[in-house]
Amino acid sequence: MYDAHGRQIDYMRVSIIDRCNLRCVYCMPDTYQEFQPFEDLLSYDEFLTVLRAAIDLGITRFRITGGEPTVRAGLVDFMRRVTALEGLQDVALSTNGLRFKDLAPELYEAGLRRVNVSLDTLRADRFREITRWGDISDVVAAFDVARAVGYDPIKLNAVVMRGVNDDEVFDLVEFALEKQVKVRFIELMPLGTAYPWAAERWVPTPELIERLGTRYDLEPLENGAVRGYGPADYYRVNGGAGVIGFISPFKEHFCQACRRIRLSADGKIYPCLAWETAAVDLKPALRRGAGLDEIRLLLARALEIKPPAHMFEEYQADELKRRVMSRIGG
Ligand code: SAM
Ligand code: SF4
Repeated sequence: MYDAHGRQIDYMRVSIIDRCNLRCVYCMPDTYQEFQPFEDLLSYDEFLTVLRAAIDLGITRFRITGGEPTVRAGLVDFMRRVTALEGLQDVALSTNGLRFKDLAPELYEAGLRRVNVSLDTLRADRFREITRWGDISDVVAAFDVARAVGYDPIKLNAVVMRGVNDDEVFDLVEFALEKQVKVRFIELMPLGTAYPWAAERWVPTPELIERLGTRYDLEPLENGAVRGYGPADYYRVNGGAGVIGFISPFKEHFCQACRRIRLSADGKIYPCLAWETAAVDLKPALRRGAGLDEIRLLLARALEIKPPAHMFEEYQADELKRRVMSRIGG
């Protein structure tokens, strides 16, 4: 399936809940309570209808995310039904890791093989400052359990913030090499609570690559050379000791290479993370029992309105503040 700008769209991020058991400083205010009532969220049956329709259109790779997907009851059974979908090529989970160590064996048994765990720091006190109350040992355990259970690939996602955790990028790489996971550094985006301070905390990827290059031999890998269809550019470390990825939303070609759409927990398709206004609401159709044909048409409509680029630079402050990643589906 191609959008109006000729990009092949084959990947959907599916947020199954907007709630979270953390309040990371760049994602949600600590007092954030504007969560959607449970009845407004799609049911698992409704999600599966959308996924079925998406697969029919060639969108065959999914990432289950949130909010924090592991806080929604019934995740394991849902995963079992997702992995059984005919035509599905790939499904992965994004998690903050707090509950993953307990769920990892059951999710694996339900067919999940790929997991991304967010971890921005290796220091317990800093972790608590960034996440507001998380216990880092739960997240470290998530990597160990994921490895022991057999997940592959396991990715560590770290948002890099100047003056907050950018002094730890080498430590994070060493941790990832030791745990045999792929580390991906994400540029901070000026969304939600990260607006406006993201501008002064932002560490551009080229600067980070230069810094890491002072210690490691970094060799760019062709896109697709490592398993993954996300937006990261990957580099081989020291001839093959590991792989580092960089996710750079401000890079010139980031949007041209975009092959994804997002489904929010309340059933809206967001063709672009940054355009909250351009959304197609699937819930009314799902709730009146629309068939796959109608859902397919609505999905096709979402691809038609997918904008060419995010244009973060041109937004007004109130627009940026309103965009909470956990709601749109990070
Ligand atoms: N709760 C899960 C987690 O933290 O991995 C999944 C959802 S979370 C919204 C997905 C990713 O978005 C996380 O890696 C998080 O660090 C990232 N994120 C949230 N707000 C961000 C921002 N303002 N800039 C860059 N990345 C952000
Ligand atoms: Fe929760 Fe993930 Fe947002 Fe942190 S980044 S508050 S873990 S949804």
